[in-house]
Amino acid sequence: MTVLFSQTSIIKTHLCPNLCSGALQSFETQQEEGAARASYPGNWSSTRGGLCCSTLKLVVGGVVVKYSSSSVDMEEEGGLDSDGRTYSSRKEMWEAEAGEDPNGSDAKSIAKKLEWYHKGVSYWESVEASVDGVLGGYGSVNARDVADSNAFILEMFNECPPGAGDLVALDCGAGVGRVTKNFLLHHFHEVDLVEPVHHFLDKAQADLGSNGTARGSANSNNPKTHRAVNFYCTPLQDFSPEAGRYDVIWVQWCIGHLTDHDFIAFFKRAQAGLKPGGFFVLKENIAKNGFVVDKSDSSVTRSDAYFRDLFKQTGLHLQKTKLQKGFPKDLFAVRMYALTSEPRIMSAPPSQPTRASRRRNQPRKIH
Ligand code: SAH
Repeated sequence: MTVLFSQTSIIKTHLCPNLCSGALQSFETQQEEGAARASYPGNWSSTRGGLCCSTLKLVVGGVVVKYSSSSVDMEEEGGLDSDGRTYSSRKEMWEAEAGEDPNGSDAKSIAKKLEWYHKGVSYWESVEASVDGVLGGYGSVNARDVADSNAFILEMFNECPPGAGDLVALDCGAGVGRVTKNFLLHHFHEVDLVEPVHHFLDKAQADLGSNGTARGSANSNNPKTHRAVNFYCTPLQDFSPEAGRYDVIWVQWCIGHLTDHDFIAFFKRAQAGLKPGGFFVLKENIAKNGFVVDKSDSSVTRSDAYFRDLFKQTGLHLQKTKLQKGFPKDLFAVRMYALTSEPRIMSAPPSQPTRASRRRNQPRKIH
């Protein structure tokens, strides 16, 4: 499968023979690199593209010395796809995969982009409508996933307390409603789902009950009054949320289907759907470097640096981020990012009075 776990083997093939076998050393500047070359005369090789992009390496007695230049423009960080093709930059990849270029609105670009999205949805249309299906056979990670999402949202609510009134969330790329049922309905009075694949959304609607309440999941945190309300069958690149409706817009394991342009446009547009003080959470697989394209379902796994660069372009503020813990080692790392319209400063806890101020505040006799 693709969205969660794709191409671990490719990463191993490309990285391990060179980068995992010896001690690694990074040089931050060209001066450091020059000094290393001078003190280790030998057979240096430089690689651009792929996960080894922008690396310069020297193998001396089994020790790999790795140079990664911090001055390299993020745009230049390359990646690879599931067929083993390497790309020297994101720009090259998006042009090849989805006909997307900075000014690209010609007919060829549009057709390629439609093809990219069509392939993504077609892939999921052939997948069984179940938790195991949307998790690529790793249904067993559901509980760990939900536990860390719970902890993350509670920390965020602590930092950015929601306003009074009923809490409302949007579950993006909702699949069969796994996130809504097991997590969002425990915190929010109303949840809307947006998902482009009909049979997933039908399953979600059936599971969450005709009145939207998750069947069999009512408990003290998830009372019957908490309901899934709207089920939108639309891909994110075409979706605009109702203005000011949501406390939280949760985007999990689906943003890899969006091109960079549509990623940025979605977050910019969807901000209008947030209540004042509301926020986004993006929970996604993370590539070690650059990106990995999965040709079978038209998705891209981006690196942490890649995400941060896109966040800057959305104008949103990265308020908090955490790694998911406890997933099997052969899966991509997963990270949660909370994005706010503007930085939220936590109100400082009341400061403990110092000894001096304590004395000053003691009752004193007036002479
Ligand atoms: N978020 C859910 C489902 C993850 S599987 C969960 O964690 O359980 C990935 C989901 O992304 C699938 O439901 C798939 O149909 C959806 N998807 C594919 N292309 C999409 C697009 N362009 N916009 C939104 N969702 C998309």
